[in-house]
Amino acid sequence: MKTNKIKRIGVLTSGGDSPGMNAAIRAVVRGAIYNKVKVYGIQRGYQGLVDNDMQEMHSHSVSNIIQIGGTILKTARCMDFMTAEGRRKAYENLVTRGIDALVTIGGDGTFAGAQELGEEFNFPIVGIPGTIDNDICGTDYTIGYDTALNTVVEAVDKIRDTASAHNRLFFIEVMGRNAGFLTLHGGIATGAEAIMVPEYTNDFDMLNIFLNSAQKQHKTSSIVLVAEGDELGGAIKLAKKVEKDHPEYDVRVTILGHIQRGGSPSAIDRVNAGRMGVSAVEALLEGKKDMMVGLMNGKIVYSPFSRSKKEKRPLDPHLMDLIRILSI
Ligand code: ATP
Repeated sequence: MKTNKIKRIGVLTSGGDSPGMNAAIRAVVRGAIYNKVKVYGIQRGYQGLVDNDMQEMHSHSVSNIIQIGGTILKTARCMDFMTAEGRRKAYENLVTRGIDALVTIGGDGTFAGAQELGEEFNFPIVGIPGTIDNDICGTDYTIGYDTALNTVVEAVDKIRDTASAHNRLFFIEVMGRNAGFLTLHGGIATGAEAIMVPEYTNDFDMLNIFLNSAQKQHKTSSIVLVAEGDELGGAIKLAKKVEKDHPEYDVRVTILGHIQRGGSPSAIDRVNAGRMGVSAVEALLEGKKDMMVGLMNGKIVYSPFSRSKKEKRPLDPHLMDLIRILSI
C-alpha cells in the first residue's frame, strides 16, 4: 500500500564500485519517475551528501547506461560521514533540497552509515546490496557478484591453458576482502585443485594433502585460488611457502586485481539490479525504512540494516567439500 508522502528521493552509490550499479541507478530513477516522485543523483557516495553535490535526474539521465560498468554517480569512501557532525551536514543538505528519502547502493559499510543517518534523524532509507564480494546477509545475490565471478572464470580458464602447457602450479589471487565467495564459486566453476579462503583455517592442510597426491597422479597443471583476505596472506606469500616445502613444483603467481571490478554487467546482474532498484523505491513509498532489499530463492525480501552489521554470511561447507571431491 503506497502512502505517497514521499515526493523526492535521493540515490547514491558508495564503497567499492561493482558492475551493475548503473543498472540499479537506472531502475531507481525510472521507478521513482514512474511513481511520480522526483529523484536526485548524489555524487561520490556520502561525500556528495556532505558537500551538497547532487542534481535532479530525469529518465534520459539514465539512458544507455544499463550495459556500462562502474557508476555514473561515482563512489567514494567518506571519512566525514563517519562523524556525527558530517552526518548532520548531510541531513541539513537533504532537508534544504526537500529530499525526504534515500536509496543507498553499496556494501555493509554503506548500510552501517545509512543506519546511523536514519536513526539519528528519523530519515527513511532503503539499501540495495552492490558489491562483488556477495558477503551480505539477507540476500543470495549482491549486484556485481555474478559479473565478477564470470570475469574470474574467464581469466582462470586462460591461465589453465598456459599452466597445462608447462606443467605448472599456479596460485591465483581473487578479490573479496574478508569473504571467500568469489574464490569458492570461482574454484568450482574453473575446476581448481584447491582454494584458500578466510572462512576456513584448515585449508592449508587440505592444500598440502592435495599437493602430495597430485604429484603422485602426475597432474598436468594445478590451479589454487587464493582469497585476498586469507589468514595466511595473499597468493605471493602462500606461493613462497609452498615453493620452500615443495621444490618439485614449478610455481607461478597471478593476481587478478581490479579487472574483477570492471566490465559490462552480466544479464543476471542487470535483471537483479532492475528488480532491486524498483523494489527499493516501492518500499520507501510503502513506508519501509532502515532496511535493505534482497533476493532470496528468487523472491524480493527485506532485512534490517542491523543484520548486515551483526551477522557474517557463511560459506556453504558442502561447497568446500565439493572442491575436494571434484579435484581428485
Ligand atoms: P564494499 O563492500 O564494496 O567495500 P562498503 O559499503 O562496505 O562496500 P565501506 O568503505 O566499508 O564500503 O563503506 C562505505 C562508506 O560508508 C564509508 O566510506 C563511510 O562513508 C560510510 N560508513 C561506513 N561505516 C560507517 C559507520 N559505521 N558510520 C557512518 N558511516 C559509515
